[in-house]
Amino acid sequence: MTDIEIAQNVKMDKIVKVAEKIGLSEDDIEQYGSYKAKIKLPLQTEKKTKRKLILVTSINPTPAGEGKSTVTVGLGDAFSLLQKKVMIALREPSLGPVMGMKGGATGGGYAQVVPMEDINLHFTGDMHALTTANNTLAALIDNHMQQGNALGIDQRRIVWKRTLDINDRALRNIVIGLGGPVQGVPREDGFDITVASELMAILCLSEDLHDLKARINRIVIGYTHDRKPVTVQDLNVGGAIATLLKDAIKPNLVQTLAHTPAIIHGGPFANIAHGCNSVLATQTALNLADYTITEAGFGADLGAEKFLDIKTPVLGKTPDTIVIVATVKALKLNGGQALSDLATENLDALKKGIANLVHHIKSMAQYGVPVVVAINRFTQDTNHEIDYVKQICADMGIQALDTDVWAKGGHGALDLAKTIIKTVEKPATFKPLYEPDADLTVKIETIVTKIYGGVHVEYSKKAINQIKRFKKYGWDKLPVCMAKTQYSLSDDPKLLGAPKDFTIHVKLFVPKLGAGFIVAMTGNILTMPGLPKHPAALDIDISDDGKISGLF
Ligand code: ADP
Repeated sequence: MTDIEIAQNVKMDKIVKVAEKIGLSEDDIEQYGSYKAKIKLPLQTEKKTKRKLILVTSINPTPAGEGKSTVTVGLGDAFSLLQKKVMIALREPSLGPVMGMKGGATGGGYAQVVPMEDINLHFTGDMHALTTANNTLAALIDNHMQQGNALGIDQRRIVWKRTLDINDRALRNIVIGLGGPVQGVPREDGFDITVASELMAILCLSEDLHDLKARINRIVIGYTHDRKPVTVQDLNVGGAIATLLKDAIKPNLVQTLAHTPAIIHGGPFANIAHGCNSVLATQTALNLADYTITEAGFGADLGAEKFLDIKTPVLGKTPDTIVIVATVKALKLNGGQALSDLATENLDALKKGIANLVHHIKSMAQYGVPVVVAINRFTQDTNHEIDYVKQICADMGIQALDTDVWAKGGHGALDLAKTIIKTVEKPATFKPLYEPDADLTVKIETIVTKIYGGVHVEYSKKAINQIKRFKKYGWDKLPVCMAKTQYSLSDDPKLLGAPKDFTIHVKLFVPKLGAGFIVAMTGNILTMPGLPKHPAALDIDISDDGKISGLF
């Protein structure tokens, strides 16, 4: 059965019943139909005090699939089976990958969140609200230019781009305002995918509506002719933009196939943005459950690094255990085995490719949080292969457990859950990777050497000039959000395994003052993806009676 068929065959609980499990009454939620709700904040119920946080991350992703969301969901169900008060906190899927490369992002097999069609498509409208808020700001900027440009904005230096939650490469670079004086001021512009937008990052980092509006006001939309930054505050439209996000800021409540409560809220990509669900979602889960299981995007070099260095200072809580998901297939691919041949046992390829897992274990261990490895079992994996991965981890003093949640749901992760219940009680002394007041370049070099395993950072001429200007503006001590390919520890997607002695190339910085970080664009990374040769959309369909197929 496909993921969607499994999901369609399960009878969901009414969302009111799911809410009850975490102590929320009908009055504490706003229902979107029978199976989805937004949680009203601030919470009116008594908050839990145990607050154990489990961060799920993975090795570098490959086309073979790692199953991070699948393991996160299955692990949540395993905690439920063990009668623990647990919540899962995931990101909202973007329509870009749903229609493009990846398909859905709600887990897989018997470890899924539902209603998967809704979550993967328009859900509760958060992406639309973000897209609209973003483009309202763009329209207000162009209107300001049209109506006399009192702020003296240089139209060649407007950095606020338009967004769409669609992979549309044709919109990466556009010219707007053509057609004469009443059609606007002509200028170059471009579209980013919504999940890479600063508003998405802001939504995910805001602590409440007040903070949301303050952050929106701090957004730098461009520069004047004498290079002074212009903010949303200067345009006096922060209130309107925040108003458009009044519902989007509230966490969304759904359930797993086994009815474990799950919050799905905020969805920045981890390669071109900070890759974590919202602080409010994680905070809410921590307040409502004893155990919160959350996931950060792509590999540990991207999502987990950003979770630990960007999100936790705002969240005010560091993880009690980090789970690294690995698959035998992906490790073999990292070791040189062909994608078409991954079902065949190949210990030689595994021995080479395991360098990628070893690297991520070491890099995560630097944060001082206990690390556990979850081997996401595929049916073709052999016991020899699984045992080899366990042995290598054991040699490093790390527990590795095989999980089979895709085939068995929560029953496939009971041992993993029991192990984690013990490790979260270990005293963890979180060590931040870098000092908050270190220079931007020091932060980047620390990430490159300590997390990626590189040796050198090369800055383009443009990036060097930007650093000089950031010093003038007082932005040179902000946290850094690396934009880098997810496929490699380096900025070259073809360098698999654990490459050494490489240089990271910083081409450009994008200051995001509202989010509170500077994005460093490396390699050839793009903030508006394109569609592949065979987009997932070709396989998606809806029957006359409304049944959806092909969403994985
Ligand atoms: P990630 O979160 O790492 O991107 P997902 O959990 O979304 O990965 O899984 C990607 C795809 O791989 C899903 O379609 C899922 O059904 C499939 N998948 C995950 N784990 C397994 C497994 N153990 N066996 C078979 N398919 C799996």
